[in-house]
Amino acid sequence: MVYTKRKIRKGPIIGLIVIIVLIALLITGFCLYKHFTSNEYKLAKVGYSEDEIATLLKMDNKVIDKALTTDYNKHLIPLASQKYFMWKNFKTYTSYINKLLEQSNKIDYEKVVRDVNVKRNYDFYTHTEKTDMDKGNAILVNKYHALPEKYAPKDIVSVSNWYCYGTAMIKNEVYEAFKNMFNAAKKEDITLIINSGYRTYEAQKAVYDTYKETNGEEEADAFAARPDFSEHQTGLALDVITYGASGDNFDTTEAFKWLQKNAHKYGFILRYPKGKEDITGYSYESWHYRYLGTNLATKVKKSNLTYDEYYAYYLDKD
Ligand SMILES: [Zn+2]
Repeated sequence: MVYTKRKIRKGPIIGLIVIIVLIALLITGFCLYKHFTSNEYKLAKVGYSEDEIATLLKMDNKVIDKALTTDYNKHLIPLASQKYFMWKNFKTYTSYINKLLEQSNKIDYEKVVRDVNVKRNYDFYTHTEKTDMDKGNAILVNKYHALPEKYAPKDIVSVSNWYCYGTAMIKNEVYEAFKNMFNAAKKEDITLIINSGYRTYEAQKAVYDTYKETNGEEEADAFAARPDFSEHQTGLALDVITYGASGDNFDTTEAFKWLQKNAHKYGFILRYPKGKEDITGYSYESWHYRYLGTNLATKVKKSNLTYDEYYAYYLDKD
């Protein structure tokens, strides 16, 4: 009796222990499985530190995937954290960084991303391409983006000498926009005067060649655009001044202040701002305005970016 009783009692206990052990094993197995298949574990295997992993896991899935599928890259996180980071430029950012590291061990990632986005990792007039003419009024023309050879726009009209010094020509749409802007400024006793508008390929070439012959290519590039690389050849750019001001002191005038506040409402942006010379490739030109249309000009103005950067980031996306 006693023997049997004990036997009966032991059975369920052993059974229970077995079940508990099995559950424990299952839980452990599950935890181990979860651990070894977790992104934390995999990222650590690739070589990322605890801090980096914590940052990575808060980032976009695409960044995590990149980290998981490529060799350890200490530049990945700081690069991908930049506002204007673009995946299509990722390889170029990295090779540019390696080039910069030969000169200095401090890397400004914001500048790296900006430079590569606008091709400033290359010297001006190198790695040039034909600009995408399908962009219409939004075309980018700079020292990397050329117009089609000997480009001459349609719809070029002569500007009435009511609005300009000497003679000037401009695209019709730009002329209409300028007249609206002129009238609005006039109401506030400000007179905007067109000092230069459309320049033909030949005219631009003559200006550039004269500089080149007298001062050499480097000097010429500092002061004039090469033909097919000038915004004035698009018919979309205007040099604007006012009474009593030349280009040099235009930014001290009320007219300039008015343009700063209002030009975008009529479709124009200041194309070569102060402090952005290294991006635009041009000295600060308080008088040079580029027509983009009201919508785009307003967006560019709000972005606080040069048009070169804005175009690269928002309009040239793959
Ligand atoms: Zn100009």
